[in-house]
Amino acid sequence: MKYDYVIVGAGFAGSVMAEQIATQLNKKVLIVEKRKHIGGNAYDEFDEYGILVHRYGPHIFHTNSKKVFDYLSQFTEWRFYEHKVLVKLNGELYPIPINRITLNKLYGLELKSEADVKNYLETVIQNHFPVLNSEDIIVNQVGNDLFEKFFKQYTKKQWNLEPKELSPQVCGRIPVRHNDDCRYFTDKYQYMPKVGYTKMFEKMLSHKNIEIILNQDYRAILNDLKYDKMIYTGPIDYFFDYEYGKLPYRSIRFEFENFKTERVQQAAVVNYNDLKKEYTRVTEYKYFSGQNKRSTTLSYEYSQISGEPYYPVPTQSSRRMYFRYKNESEKLKNVIFCGRLAEYQYYNMDQVVANTLNLLNELKYNGK
Ligand code: FAD
Ligand code: UDP
Repeated sequence: MKYDYVIVGAGFAGSVMAEQIATQLNKKVLIVEKRKHIGGNAYDEFDEYGILVHRYGPHIFHTNSKKVFDYLSQFTEWRFYEHKVLVKLNGELYPIPINRITLNKLYGLELKSEADVKNYLETVIQNHFPVLNSEDIIVNQVGNDLFEKFFKQYTKKQWNLEPKELSPQVCGRIPVRHNDDCRYFTDKYQYMPKVGYTKMFEKMLSHKNIEIILNQDYRAILNDLKYDKMIYTGPIDYFFDYEYGKLPYRSIRFEFENFKTERVQQAAVVNYNDLKKEYTRVTEYKYFSGQNKRSTTLSYEYSQISGEPYYPVPTQSSRRMYFRYKNESEKLKNVIFCGRLAEYQYYNMDQVVANTLNLLNELKYNGK
């Protein structure tokens, strides 16, 4: 059998590509996925207690893009969900992103308005310009004490690097608020797929032009495949056999535990921002699904170097190495690299969907 496209990986990038090629270009697609399931890191399933859990950590869908939201809405209904995260510091819980409530509780202040918060922060912020790293971007907004308490140790645990060593883009993901808004995101669309991500992917991929092989590294069968073009969504350094060295990725060990009680945490996610606990954050999954169950399942995240590559590590040296690979990738006329691992970018799900939809347009109009 000859395919028009072979797609490596069945995460967001691979699945959106497959769906679009099948339906918009009416071409035959084979997806080769090394895991035993579709969905990539967004994969979810019911655990033995009937709780819908995300096997690769909490995935909250949020976007400002109507295009992305409308596109995914073809494959799922949604459950309105606004994510909240608390930080545990010295036994107390505080809202993150840092806001008025955080400051009043932490320092025993009585800041009453947004202007009060702004004025207070003016007295503690520093001026690190140009903004070169994840420490600069935070101390410029909240000063050193809040940086030390809320960012320094957590970042060290998560990345095994100092914030100074990481691009501003990492800690810069977390805003600072002058009001009482305790939501983690402020995007226009904040929803969870009603019956889970995996069901959404199943619907996306059920098309006569799409075949899927699971449990298979593409390399092992590549020589037996006949195809015109490849879409590659795995790690870019693996594709080139680590020719320029191994790109650093951060991995995570997830430990799941079920408790025979309705609720354990006061928010879906609690971050442990000091070094007293080895884990970085704890997620209680029932918040996402709204399931009405007697028991509840939590996951604990332990950051580590070895294991599945989950996070590209945004440092200057990794950027340099990535660009050498990117350069190589641009020489290949029949392979397209897309997604978080193939582009070595700290993308959220909606960014991957948006980029992939754009790429399809390129295929359509430029015949890449
Ligand atoms: P992946 O989902 O990684 O898919 C790549 C696929 O390729 C994988 O299934 C992999 O098994 C397969 N593959 C790799 N190599 C091979 C090979 N050699 N042969 C065959 N198959 C291969 N985003 C959000 O928007 N909101 C969140 O709350 C959020 N939380 C996150 C939490 C964690 C812990 C992590 C790690 C990520 C989170 N993300 C979140 C980011 C989100 O997971 C990614 O943006 C998205 O999954 C990227 O999709 P992708 O298809 O590029 O990559
Ligand atoms: N971060 C932090 N303290 C927090 C939350 C986040 O230091 O309480 C930093 C940390 O470096 C983290 C990054 O900000 O890796 C991005 O956080 P986010 O919650 O977006 O991480 P993700 O969900 O991608 O793991």
